[in-house]
Amino acid sequence: MAYQTVNPYTNELVKEYPNATDQQLEEALKTGQNLYEEFKKQPVKERGEILHNIASKIREKADELARACTIDMGKLLTESQGEVELCAVIADWFADHGEEMLKPEEIETTATGTAEIQHHATGVLMMVEPWNFPYYQIMRVFAPNFMVGNPMILKHASNTPTSAQMMADIILEAGAPKGSLTNMFLTYDQVTAAIEDPRVQGAALTGSERGGEAVASAAGKNLKKTTMELGGMDPFVVLDDADMDDVADIAWRSRLYNTGQECTSSKRFIVMENVYDEFVERLKENFSKVKAGDPLDPNTTIAPMNTKKAKEDLQKQVDEAVKAGAEVVYGNEPIDLPGQFFMPTILTNVDRDNPAYTTEMFGPIGVVYKVSTEQEAIELANDSSYGLGGVVFAGDSEHGAEVASQIETGMVFVNNFRYSLPELPFGGVKRSGYGREMSRLGQMAFVNEKLIVKADKPDMNNLAGGLVASSNPE
Ligand code: NAP
Repeated sequence: MAYQTVNPYTNELVKEYPNATDQQLEEALKTGQNLYEEFKKQPVKERGEILHNIASKIREKADELARACTIDMGKLLTESQGEVELCAVIADWFADHGEEMLKPEEIETTATGTAEIQHHATGVLMMVEPWNFPYYQIMRVFAPNFMVGNPMILKHASNTPTSAQMMADIILEAGAPKGSLTNMFLTYDQVTAAIEDPRVQGAALTGSERGGEAVASAAGKNLKKTTMELGGMDPFVVLDDADMDDVADIAWRSRLYNTGQECTSSKRFIVMENVYDEFVERLKENFSKVKAGDPLDPNTTIAPMNTKKAKEDLQKQVDEAVKAGAEVVYGNEPIDLPGQFFMPTILTNVDRDNPAYTTEMFGPIGVVYKVSTEQEAIELANDSSYGLGGVVFAGDSEHGAEVASQIETGMVFVNNFRYSLPELPFGGVKRSGYGREMSRLGQMAFVNEKLIVKADKPDMNNLAGGLVASSNPE
């Protein structure tokens, strides 16, 4: 596989990167393992200081980073800028809170003495990340694990090598020791070899089910822990008393942000029948206002897709959906620009047999369903093999939250846009994966929760209940 930056707006090959050799991988593993030993002796606080430096360096280089990201995978420059700042926010948050979260926790026990859980590093991790948020995906795993003291090897997507290398360089420049994050242009086989290596203790992947299955099975065979952040077909439920101005304002953004190439994008709009016509009309109106063009130009509001292949695959999915009976309410026409543009498209009449009902469409396609009861809305929201996120709009937010709690996903936002912030856990259930990134849960993903029970001497009358006592010879 070739690691290349091909600008999806100009189709120009900007830069190609050679694959890593096995020898380089071996060196990275060795460096990572040595660093793990060093990290064990270093106070967490010191890594917090370095992580703050990383946040500052990211902010210092924000323009350069944002441009590189837009050229790598095409997103709007303003969105790249937002992503870069979010990385700095994540780094600062873990730098501020990591030490506290990693302090030992005392537990009440009937054992003699005191008991506590200490939070230790586990060792080198393999990190496999996708192109859609080239920096943020790195930072979600890097910041908490750097605080813990787990060195990381990164295999980023083959189409965002420039962003991957830039972030790795910044981390090093900001004072993180060599091996904290080693970006490598690895083949799939090398990723498997790294996971099989005894020095690697876990793997985190964000990406498709295909990638997830490959990495999780290699890790499973070798009894190593994983976190999986996979695909989604998130519902956006509009109840009959929702504020339709708010709904209209949020719905199009929630689908077209990042040109719809987002795991938590609102891919299924589930709308009560009394507001359905208005919803479709206003979504259409907002979809029709976006302006395709150079993503570096601040006047552009819809960017190209990340690669030619992504656009072609999406077109195939839309064609199949239409063949199976979907109605195109808006879009699905060519955009007369050389870049990999896909016109924002609205589909309705998607029934259960339509492939669009079950398959994630990773681009600017909104599918709208009409329902006549709230129960029907919940059942439709849950009729998916995925379970990542979701949005509910309701006149009463308490009632919206009751509906949200019945949706089988990892995160739901009521009367709101979808947030991703370091203090909020991120992740899903079902085929959207398992484990959480960000927040305290993400901080603990690859931690050895080590129990220490400490007494001055054993109490012979309190030997773990009758079990030990009865097995002792008289
Ligand atoms: P992908 O093909 O799985 O790629 C993601 C990463 O996995 C890339 O670095 C890719 O490398 C690597 N990869 C794929 N197969 C692999 C294998 N057999 N062994 C080792 N590495 C492998 O995912 P994508 O289709 O580009 O990304 C979009 C998907 O990610 C969507 O389904 C989206 O919903 C999901 N996603 C989920 C989240 C979340 O947090 N839940 C966030 C963003 C995206 P190459 O690039 O070299 O193939």
